[in-house]
Amino acid sequence: MGKSLFQKVWDAHTVRTLPDGRTQLFIGLHLIHEVTSPQAFGMMRDLGLGVAYPERTFATVDHIIPTAKDARLRPFRDNLAEQMTVELTESCKKFGIRFFHENSGNQGIVHVVGPEQGLTQPGMTICCGDSHTSTHGALGAVAFGIGTSQVRDVLSTQTLAMAPLKVRRIEVNGTLGVGVYAKDVILHIIRKLGVNGGTGFAYEFAGSAIEAMSMEERMTLCNMSIEGGARVGYVNPDETTFTYLQARPYAPTGADWERAVAYWRSVASDPDAVYDDVVRIDAREIPPSLTWGVNPGQVIGIDEPVPAPEAVPESERANVVDALKYMKLEGGKPIKGQKVNVTFIGSCTNSRLSDLREVAQHVRGKRVAEGVKALVVPGSQRVKEAAESEGLHDVFTQAGFEWREPGCSMCLGMNPDKLVGDQLCASSSNRNFKGRMGSPEGRTVLMSPVMVAAAAIRGELCDAREVFSLERS
Ligand code: SF4
Repeated sequence: MGKSLFQKVWDAHTVRTLPDGRTQLFIGLHLIHEVTSPQAFGMMRDLGLGVAYPERTFATVDHIIPTAKDARLRPFRDNLAEQMTVELTESCKKFGIRFFHENSGNQGIVHVVGPEQGLTQPGMTICCGDSHTSTHGALGAVAFGIGTSQVRDVLSTQTLAMAPLKVRRIEVNGTLGVGVYAKDVILHIIRKLGVNGGTGFAYEFAGSAIEAMSMEERMTLCNMSIEGGARVGYVNPDETTFTYLQARPYAPTGADWERAVAYWRSVASDPDAVYDDVVRIDAREIPPSLTWGVNPGQVIGIDEPVPAPEAVPESERANVVDALKYMKLEGGKPIKGQKVNVTFIGSCTNSRLSDLREVAQHVRGKRVAEGVKALVVPGSQRVKEAAESEGLHDVFTQAGFEWREPGCSMCLGMNPDKLVGDQLCASSSNRNFKGRMGSPEGRTVLMSPVMVAAAAIRGELCDAREVFSLERS
């Protein structure tokens, strides 16, 4: 009987089965950032522990770092942000951990930095104290987010106690429609399977529509697996993966490269692998999608009305009523036409070069609507540099977008980029929870970067296919 990638990677990294049935798993790569690591290092200090494998540990600063150029001068104006950064810097120095700090030219959002450096590789186990570590599964790794005490465990032992997961294969077959992107695919999957549908599962994304995706699109897809409850999401490694990795700073070279590719091929799921569940989706049924509520499963197509409480099953009614109230939307009415105050293109979901290129080609020569604050925040210094070398920053600034320095920015209200009051933000990020963007009343609507750009130009939620004259399929 064949094995899935998940089973192969899990087995290869199993140190032993613990008395409680969990697995002690060796972790190939540990990514850390300033928010969840200082506490872990503090616990280690109290226990007199060191870092077991500093060469397998890499750090960056992303959540708290300001994205306005003048606000990045040290010390940061926010004392807590400064303190977190200082603590991370000192811990990295003390334990010999490579730190992609703000002056390194390689700083950025942890889930953008790992793949672009070639640190993320197929067949690895990868951890980070951040839920969206599932992003790295795009390259065929088993990658998952961990809590602060687990960050301590991985730092001090390079292993983790984890219960094995079941595997659900999600096949998306066919060709995506015009104006439909990886973000729409994952929003549609979460809509179908629910925000808790993936609990206890790893999601294996497969099928012709996934195989046709670029590596960066696969990252968008895997990034939001966790929003569907799946701790792990991955795509089997293939030629797209190998081409992406070749010549990246930490990718193997020479004879090691050949050996690595042979191994990477071997970890892909066997054709006769057995799965705990299989879901099949026709790519043609996926519309340009966006959230209307307060979790990433409350999704509709841009042409659909917002759900009416009386039209949903009774078990969901209270949540729908609550979400409508918070979002200040009327059930049964179109979402199109809702005024936006802020638009945000960024986050570990959609801040890579291909996202910026795709948007830039549509906004060239257009103008952001009067009164809309429109941010474009590249995912890393490398993304920013590459975008600038292509002149994308000029396209954005000429259209009225703010071109920022890399960081998590508005995705999470832990830095100066926050919503104010009940502002409505069209966002390419991954979470639309109440208060997520720094204001307790702030409203977030998740969508693809191209849809965000269309909202910025029109000043309202709208169909990017109409704004940018994309031919409807
Ligand atoms: S961009 Fe958002 S989701 Fe991604 S690591 Fe930063 S805060 Fe977390």
